[in-house]
Amino acid sequence: MSLQEMVFRNLVGGVLTDAVSSMNVINPANGEVFATCPETTHRELDDAVAQAKRAFATWRLVSVGDRATMLARAAEVIRLNTSVLGRILTAEQGKPLREAEGEVAAAAAMFEKFAAVPLTPEREFVGDREVALVRRPLGVVGAIVPWNFPVLLMAMKIPAALMAGNVVVLKPAPSTPLATLKIGELLADVFPPGVLNVISGAAELGAWLTAHPDVDKISFTGSTEVGIKVIRGAADGLKRLTLELGGNDAAIVLPDVDVAKTADAIFKKAFRNTGQVCTAIKRLYVHDTVYDEMCGELARLADKSIVGNGMDEATEIGPLQNRAQYDKVRSIIDDARSHGVVIAGDQEVDSAGYFIRPTIVRDISDGAMLVDEEQFGPVLPVVSYTDIDEVIDRANASPYGLGGSIWGGDLERANALALRIDAGTVWVNDHGTLNFALPFGGAKRSGIGSELGPHSLHEFTQLHVVNLVH
Ligand code: NAD
Repeated sequence: MSLQEMVFRNLVGGVLTDAVSSMNVINPANGEVFATCPETTHRELDDAVAQAKRAFATWRLVSVGDRATMLARAAEVIRLNTSVLGRILTAEQGKPLREAEGEVAAAAAMFEKFAAVPLTPEREFVGDREVALVRRPLGVVGAIVPWNFPVLLMAMKIPAALMAGNVVVLKPAPSTPLATLKIGELLADVFPPGVLNVISGAAELGAWLTAHPDVDKISFTGSTEVGIKVIRGAADGLKRLTLELGGNDAAIVLPDVDVAKTADAIFKKAFRNTGQVCTAIKRLYVHDTVYDEMCGELARLADKSIVGNGMDEATEIGPLQNRAQYDKVRSIIDDARSHGVVIAGDQEVDSAGYFIRPTIVRDISDGAMLVDEEQFGPVLPVVSYTDIDEVIDRANASPYGLGGSIWGGDLERANALALRIDAGTVWVNDHGTLNFALPFGGAKRSGIGSELGPHSLHEFTQLHVVNLVH
């Protein structure tokens, strides 16, 4: 079936439904509408939350083993549909098809991995008392996802929430709802009705979900600005919150690196997904002794990269995901021209799609918008430094604290410096690689709480301490 022929519906209470109105979805590779999705109203949201609440009464009693079996089945169903989900994801998001398929496969793996997390209550003895520490589900979880990795970021929330015994109302981003709605359709028969609900709509839908009195927890991934609105919206209900927010990750290159090899790795970590990655390298600090060589290598890699429609096999870098982000990145590049020297990219691409070639700006410093703010697009500032202590202070001066990295030949020195970076996750000679076993979350204005790892299930539970008498 062609993408244009596909129908995308909400999943509410186990039934696929059309909302009273619909929204257009645009292919960022050509700027054209290619599908529609439901534009869920407040009343339709109320219905989804009510269905979820009803389902919670029984889902919370389903055994851990049975929940795990259903999650494993969900993984299998998603995996069997990798090809169609990958095509939908590339059409709505823009990323190269092989990366879209990789994202779907990674999402399937999340369902499988969360299915294997043990949920046994702990017992402790305090004096002569036995105390049971039970993790109870919270109830209805509102899951809100951005447009850069719609499928993977959804899968960092949903299986954890369900495995812990919660029910979910999931809201994808307005510009990338389709693969998520299709996953809802595919999973309609896997979970009991109302356990997983998927609804698409405009940004207000996120605000309504956040403030809904019958929603007990919001698991949100998106910008810091909207994360703050989520805190406000959830305050009256004292809802539990996990917030995975923006970043402005610094990478620091020490003088003793292999420049060509390091440039190659850094280029990939800065420009993957067209730079629209929360943990992309967004500021690069390079020691002055290797600065010119590093800038030259990065410019060479930018010049030879293949930018195009993600459906073309040769494409390495797709379009920006939406017009607003394209305009924002363009204005950041315009501003950067007066603060530094553009040595690659920044040429017009002859297409109606939202394309910007990978752009490298050198001789720029802190204080420029491109260095201080989150660009979330294919443009990298390369900043020169001389003194390592001073550059660590500059890296840590950001209000964000999502990730950071140190690149060097002397590993002991690099490891010691990594410990000094103020961020949720820091890497040495790597950046942005996530591991299921490790919690991932932001420091400072990059978030509250964490996802991934067995520990993240705690974010979806209330600790219940029961003093037992024998
Ligand atoms: P965004 O904050 O604009 O939107 C995120 C989601 O929130 C969307 O689904 C949107 O519809 C919804 N939303 C909008 N207004 C809302 C409101 N008032 N209340 C509740 N929900 C609302 O973010 P974006 O532009 O889609 O994504 C890019 C941002 O996400 C970047 O800042 C990036 O760094 C961040 N991000 C963070 C992580 C992480 O794990 N820390 C991962 C991916 C992206």
